[in-house]
Amino acid sequence: MPDNDNEASAGDAPAAPHMTAAEFRARGREVIDWIAAYMEGLERGDAGRPVLSQITPGDVYRAMPEHAPERSEAWDDILRDVDKVVMPGVTHWQSPDFFAYFPANSSGPAILGDLLASGLGVNGFLWQTCPSITEVETRVLDWLAEMTGLPEAFTSRGNRGPGGGVIQGTASEAALVAMVAARQRAVGDRAVDGLVAYSSSQAHSSVTKAAMVAGIGRDAVRPVAVDAQLSMRPEALEEAIKSDRAAGRTPFFVCATVGTTSTGAVDPLGSIGAVCEREGLWLHVDAAYAGAAMVCPEHRWMIEGVERADSYNFNPHKWLLTNFDCSALWVQDRSALIKALSISPEYLKNAASDAGAVVDYRDWQVPLGRRFRALKLWFVIRHYGVEGLRTHIRSHVRLAELFETLAAADERFEIVAPRRLGLVCFRLKTGDGPTRALMERLNASGDLFLTHSVGPVGPGAESRLFLRMAIGGARTQERHIRAAWDAIRQHADR
Ligand code: PLP
Repeated sequence: MPDNDNEASAGDAPAAPHMTAAEFRARGREVIDWIAAYMEGLERGDAGRPVLSQITPGDVYRAMPEHAPERSEAWDDILRDVDKVVMPGVTHWQSPDFFAYFPANSSGPAILGDLLASGLGVNGFLWQTCPSITEVETRVLDWLAEMTGLPEAFTSRGNRGPGGGVIQGTASEAALVAMVAARQRAVGDRAVDGLVAYSSSQAHSSVTKAAMVAGIGRDAVRPVAVDAQLSMRPEALEEAIKSDRAAGRTPFFVCATVGTTSTGAVDPLGSIGAVCEREGLWLHVDAAYAGAAMVCPEHRWMIEGVERADSYNFNPHKWLLTNFDCSALWVQDRSALIKALSISPEYLKNAASDAGAVVDYRDWQVPLGRRFRALKLWFVIRHYGVEGLRTHIRSHVRLAELFETLAAADERFEIVAPRRLGLVCFRLKTGDGPTRALMERLNASGDLFLTHSVGPVGPGAESRLFLRMAIGGARTQERHIRAAWDAIRQHADR
């Protein structure tokens, strides 16, 4: 970054109008101030109104000029348009009244880590291209494995073990990468028809999408039946595998979920793992949401049996105060992953890789390029300490217990599935239509935002529509839960 101005001296090619270091300092302070004021507003509850953006489709697009500016624009104008053009179309994920989907926590240390990563402007596809990207990531994922109770076999042991962790963009990419590693282990590089994968009927759509992207096919994923708790039935899994084998197909991959998206249901890893061992199938565990809670020993019953898994994934970008994107994937044996994804054109060859002395994370993911995402995770873990992260999770679990108690005490509502961690699933006893209408009124009010799902819940296990109250926002406190419940009660009266 130039220090002074952008004047080209005689004979130089004309310079692009770079921001000078002095401008960057001044404008950088303004942007940090803008973010801090936004956070303070969220804290007070005035900046996050309405929580769900109320614009109509096309409003933001139309508010922008039809053509890109030919000449450099003033920063005052650029920043002004953030307020004018962008903010009306922002749904406030960091609002304390955001209860939709699952949380996507943001925090000061994570934002600063991201900023620093951008400031360095590095790309870590090979160890050589930025050794710190690789080595900080390896160490931080070893820490995270230990912090969340994963067996040591998932850690890298400083690149001495066969296992190890890697940061992916999302849980969907983690599922894809695990699936291609499983395919590699099962059939190598051969083109094989009739491969089949299994996940519970409650699994996230990313498992099917992984099969679509991997070319295995949407229909190759078998939805396995669940029990009354919506957990995968290991006997049903075993039967499905047997019947596929009898039909000449090749089972190769099972995805178990710890904390399903709809209701937070938990598949029994121990008995599913035993089936996978008997049948020689790869077991991937999708703990995208619930994995963060494993920092608290009291929740680790959910991952009992994880030592039988080949790969395990959770998203620090959901509930562990690390800004999107940051999805942690561990494998017990990296060789299948590397065999599946490694390709070495001449222009990437270098001495460190050739000597096999280093981790090249490009071989553990789909893209080549990779950002320094470990920096924000490192900052988060050091800023909060493991103890601070436990406090964060426990506060939300306590608030979810409170919400569950309030909803259960109102005879117009029913809780439709066992509460899991920060997720409470409930509905109006009067049925699907009134429940959906209640959600629409609440979200249109702008006071809060929650979402719905449909599933075989309640007596008789028919498919019903229910609301999901997902509590996990960094700023959500008891008063927000009580206010949300008041709003839900009042809107239910209408
Ligand atoms: N798996 C589960 C259980 C989820 O709840 C989600 C998202 O909420 C995903 C996978 C997909 O996550 P991502 O957006 O990181 O791909």
